[in-house]
Amino acid sequence: MASARRPLIAGNWKMNGLSSDAAAVREIASAADAAGSSTDVLVCLPAPLLGHLNGAGTDLGALRLGGQDCHMAASGAHTGDVAPEMLADVGATSVIVGHSERRSDHGETDAAVKAKAEAGLRAGLQVIVCVGETMEQRQAGQAQDVVLRQLRASLPEQVTADRVVVAYEPVWAIGTGLTATPDDVREMHAAMRAALREWFGAVAEDLWLLYGGSVKADNADALLAIEDVDGALVGGASLKSETFVPIIQAATRIAA
Ligand code: PEP
Repeated sequence: MASARRPLIAGNWKMNGLSSDAAAVREIASAADAAGSSTDVLVCLPAPLLGHLNGAGTDLGALRLGGQDCHMAASGAHTGDVAPEMLADVGATSVIVGHSERRSDHGETDAAVKAKAEAGLRAGLQVIVCVGETMEQRQAGQAQDVVLRQLRASLPEQVTADRVVVAYEPVWAIGTGLTATPDDVREMHAAMRAALREWFGAVAEDLWLLYGGSVKADNADALLAIEDVDGALVGGASLKSETFVPIIQAATRIAA
């Protein structure tokens, strides 16, 4: 982990979380406060729960909140969609775009992901742009080509380190209990960093590159210690403080 980039541990609650789960968010907030300035902690919640927390005026200290997707427009006739401005309005600082579940369930293309990333920036949010290969692509030896192509086509035009985060999430590792080997993660993150350097110059050194895919307490230390892994995007294990807090603590240990 590069010392200039304090680790970012981001939870993705996916389609989970009722207003009764606010207590779990508050427990995660306590862990974020305990981590102090050494680790940046974010949870990306369903939009109704963001609204609920905001409406309740819940004090979450250092914990940041985010959305999981956004439309590219600021408002309009898009039934069921949520604009990034709406997420910002209820206290989100960040939004995930291009998660593989959005790409597969909703047919989102790289161009759509890029437009969503641009929209997130327009609304003043930090955007977490997800990329990752399928198992078939990995087995065919295409993992790096696929990921770099997705990355190039999904990133917004203006890439700045404080507002754009990249998450490498091998599709086959999400929610499966499988994780990429440390060597595979190291290789992919190094390839992404090199490509980002080529495309965007010096800013690439400061960009956060997260790993995601079945990150848990028992593999967090090993994954977070890999060079060019600047944090994690955590799905299942972020839903409960018992499983998420140890990952925050692992990041804090490694950053120390
Ligand atoms: C995710 O949803 O981004 C994710 C990485 O999920 P999980 O940690 O459950 O594999």
